[in-house]
Amino acid sequence: MQELIRQLLAELGEDPTREGLLDTPKRVAKAYEFLTSGYRADIDQVLNNALFTVDYSEMVIVKDIDFYSLCEHHLLPFFGKCHVAYIPSNKVIGLSKIPRLVDVFARRLQVQERLTQQIAGTIQDAIDPVGVAIVVEATHLCMSMRGVEKQNSFAVTSAMLGAFRDRARTRMEFLELIKLRSAAPGMRESPAGLACVGD
Ligand code: ZN
Repeated sequence: MQELIRQLLAELGEDPTREGLLDTPKRVAKAYEFLTSGYRADIDQVLNNALFTVDYSEMVIVKDIDFYSLCEHHLLPFFGKCHVAYIPSNKVIGLSKIPRLVDVFARRLQVQERLTQQIAGTIQDAIDPVGVAIVVEATHLCMSMRGVEKQNSFAVTSAMLGAFRDRARTRMEFLELIKLRSAAPGMRESPAGLACVGD
């Protein structure tokens, strides 16, 4: 990877041998390794020993989980908050594992819609709850830095499964509890075309 970064620097019109850039290929490679470490994470291992059988059927919410990801169209960051809720049927996930789960999927090349769906699907598969709700709010540097569609550089996506999809009251309760920065009441699907469109 370091040789590729050196070539990239030259292509950009830089001199990869000047002092300030000498160690840049090494640093960039290390940074990308970390930012894509989700490819090498094992979900089963992350959730290992963290699934508990309980007699609890109220909504579990973990909100304001900070995440940082890379848009797969531009390799530029998008970042923001992820809100996770589920209603257990008879199993719960250790609370500290939820942000870890978000990181596993955020630390890959992503589009915001897929990130949202993958977190929801993984929780659904792991504990088969009555419902799962995920809302992701993010700023896309590929849009705000490049000055395109500035009004849309902040995007909200959601995935609603089970009770959150079927019962408006459950969904509203969740949306009320997370108090979205950009209120989107009654939102059912990812609003198409909001996140990075890859131009
Ligand atoms: Zn992008």
